[in-house]
Amino acid sequence: MTCRPWTVRLFWRKKDVPIVAQSTETTDWVSRFADEVIEESERRAPGKPVVVASGLSPSGPIHLGNLREVMTPHLVADEIRRRGREVRHLISWDDYDRYRKVPKGIAGVDEKAWAEHIGKPLTSVPAPKGSSYPNWAEHFKAAMIESLADLGVEFDGISQTEQYTSGVYREQILHAMKHRGDIDAILAQYRTKKAPAKKQQKPLDEAELEAAEGSGAAAEDDGSSGSAGYFPYKPYCGNCEKDFTTVTSYDDDTTELSYTCDACGFSETVRLNEFNRGKLVWKVDWPMRWAYEGVIFEPSGVDHSSPGSSFQVGGQIVGIFGGERPIGPMYAFVGISGMAKMSSSKGGVPTPADALKIMEPQLLRWLYARRRPNQSFKIAFDQEIQRLYDEWDKLDAKVADSTALPADVAAHARAVGTAAGELPRTPRPLPYRTLASVADITAGHQDQALRILSELDPENPLSDLDEARPRYDKAEAWINTHVPADQRTIVRDEPDAELLKSLDEASRQSLRLLLDGLAEHWSLDGLTHLVYGVPKVQAGFSADATPKELPPEIKTAQRTFFALLYHLLVGRDTGPRLPTLLLAVGQERVRALLGE
Ligand SMILES: [Zn+2]
Repeated sequence: MTCRPWTVRLFWRKKDVPIVAQSTETTDWVSRFADEVIEESERRAPGKPVVVASGLSPSGPIHLGNLREVMTPHLVADEIRRRGREVRHLISWDDYDRYRKVPKGIAGVDEKAWAEHIGKPLTSVPAPKGSSYPNWAEHFKAAMIESLADLGVEFDGISQTEQYTSGVYREQILHAMKHRGDIDAILAQYRTKKAPAKKQQKPLDEAELEAAEGSGAAAEDDGSSGSAGYFPYKPYCGNCEKDFTTVTSYDDDTTELSYTCDACGFSETVRLNEFNRGKLVWKVDWPMRWAYEGVIFEPSGVDHSSPGSSFQVGGQIVGIFGGERPIGPMYAFVGISGMAKMSSSKGGVPTPADALKIMEPQLLRWLYARRRPNQSFKIAFDQEIQRLYDEWDKLDAKVADSTALPADVAAHARAVGTAAGELPRTPRPLPYRTLASVADITAGHQDQALRILSELDPENPLSDLDEARPRYDKAEAWINTHVPADQRTIVRDEPDAELLKSLDEASRQSLRLLLDGLAEHWSLDGLTHLVYGVPKVQAGFSADATPKELPPEIKTAQRTFFALLYHLLVGRDTGPRLPTLLLAVGQERVRALLGE
């Protein structure tokens, strides 16, 4: 991308105090790309809607890492819409690509049986057993479409199977065949060049490789040169439907094409000006579509940055189709943390739907909006999600009281809604970590969960669990599916009589102080004050004393006190934050477990 200087507009209040306008314009990477894309669209196709594109291959579950392929142009398209411009975000479903391999661990798929279909278009492969969809590609597309709807992503889906088999690209195919020599010459520049040593910062892990493959471009197929010469087009066999075919002759005048199938031995001669069962090879297919659709902006993964990659080569080939290469930032991979440990029904490949089970769409959108495409980041399925939510809630509060920085305000605005309006949000967004603790401790007992949550803020109690939804459901799903059993909280049924008996006088006194203050402090804030206050009072200070007024030993005393409480309540050294835990356990049971 080209970097353009950007200005922050200053408005002046009466007293000449500058305040920064909270417009999303020119405040973040999305705005800067939008400026560039609009300008380029006006240059290439004045007055026409702006076209941005993503490509997804439904060759299996669509990896969460591939979501960046969609979110990058989505955010830019959304900014353009917010400015009142017409924009199309195309998602090309590369469902006419060949079935390359049977992904591991898919429910309802026998690897041996499905291996029979390798080489067929993805739309000709049967869906996993039990699926309600007509074929493999549709099955995996459906899950993605649902997630995109939850995320508020507006798009025009284009099935490449429909495009190719209905002859939409006929002229382009004939044109490519006619200019196969030119195409071959471009590709030849890269074939002879030895690929430079890959400058990867680190080896790709398996998930990233999956993601790279999922982009449909990893095959880097540029067609083959048989004895009859180079052809940028491959028919799917008329007998076995597979693409192990070799073009043996082509006549430019009659468009007669002969091929043989290496898989089944079938051969036939067809007329390409009426034949619809084949496709341009990937490195030609992609630039053909840039030209056909007039794509102005289409990002691609870092795997496309090397010389000879389809994006680079496509930039040369697109000229043959009378088009120009889109503005295409390279985006860094998005990693996943905490998913590896988890056993998944889908072979450990997290999808956007998996993420949306444990986090609200706003949070997921924010992760993409706040990072420039070339910055990598991780999506947390582990404990990190709690910290992430704290950060998000803090930003939400800052935006509400107008103290957030302009770029943060912009990222927030892109996260909570689109040009079409705000996404549905949780009416009472209680802290995720509190909800997770409550779900953890109450283990599915909703009445208990409501009781605890309504005690968090007695002034303004929660009256219905629905007020905390869907965030509560996400936190509950996270606890149930991503927190290992040894990290779950199990509240003791019976007091630990032995431990209670062994306590020295100071420990007994600390419990006494806590129990005496319990009723009066029974709220999240009250209990926080109480548990930190007990060791202070015991050491002769006021419960309100600030850390500056206290000797450092108080910290040790607090830690010791907290550990004692955890042991008595949950039989471990640690657990959810104590105030939450106390509320969750309930006053009566706390009293019993602490030996009252
Ligand atoms: Zn065949």
